[in-house]
Amino acid sequence: MRLKKGLMISAIALASVLTFSACADSGAAPSSEAPVEEVPEFEAGTTMADLSDAGKITIGTKFDQPLFGLKGPDGTPVGFDVEIGKLVASKLGIKPENIEWVETVSANREPFIQNGQVDLVVATYTINDKRKEVISFAGPYYSAGQDLLVLAGNPEDIKGPEDLADKAVCTVTGSTSEKNIAEYTANVIATDTYSNCLGPLRSGEVAAVTTDNVILAGLADQNAGEFEVLDKPFTEEPYGIGLALDDTEFRNFVNDVLEESFEDGAWAAAWESTAGKVLSTPKPPTIDRY
Ligand code: GLU
Repeated sequence: MRLKKGLMISAIALASVLTFSACADSGAAPSSEAPVEEVPEFEAGTTMADLSDAGKITIGTKFDQPLFGLKGPDGTPVGFDVEIGKLVASKLGIKPENIEWVETVSANREPFIQNGQVDLVVATYTINDKRKEVISFAGPYYSAGQDLLVLAGNPEDIKGPEDLADKAVCTVTGSTSEKNIAEYTANVIATDTYSNCLGPLRSGEVAAVTTDNVILAGLADQNAGEFEVLDKPFTEEPYGIGLALDDTEFRNFVNDVLEESFEDGAWAAAWESTAGKVLSTPKPPTIDRY
């Protein structure tokens, strides 16, 4: 059930609803009250109630991944992950300006959730069993695949990860990309963020950069004419929203928000205003309520 709540005091909200009903009943127009904001009613003691009452939320995302999470000129990040984070916040009655964005790199996502430094992580974050041992995932809300980024024109004629056995590759510490590429080459340079890999690729220190196709597509788009994505994904990377391990109510809530956004067009609109400027619009995945 949803209630209209203008101030953070439900009694006042209830009074205004009753005032409106009374006016409606008498046929008179409601007096000029300030517009009320629609927020859901949450059971006391839940994370949803706590966040909604606080009117703010802390979300971890990437700050250097064009299309998904890239710090904009005003200091706040932009991208599909950021829009997904805003969607969840909006269903808690939290405005975008009341979201505190924290940079999470691949390796610190689980600890940031475990330590309570962030309420959610929306950061090209693959759902997998190992991570599920220490945190929970809502989603997936997108499904990517690991791929390779090479210099434009592919001078080393790399056709896939099998061609990397005797070549150096750059990726990021703590990512699934790092783990997966180790099956193909022992010569892996791992750094903090994917944008750090572009210098070594330009200089020839590495023959390829590897991570999810959509991250690589964003980097190629940001550096027009310099790089190309092979576009031969060799893994499946379902993106989830990370949250505290034992917070099943919050996970269910975030899953409900995602599912609703798949149906009402909000998810597609989030895609089209961000990643969709470069990539075609996919079909929403199926939520996995494990
Ligand atoms: N999706 C992969 C992961 O969560 C690679 C991208 C990233 O590091 O964010 O590890």
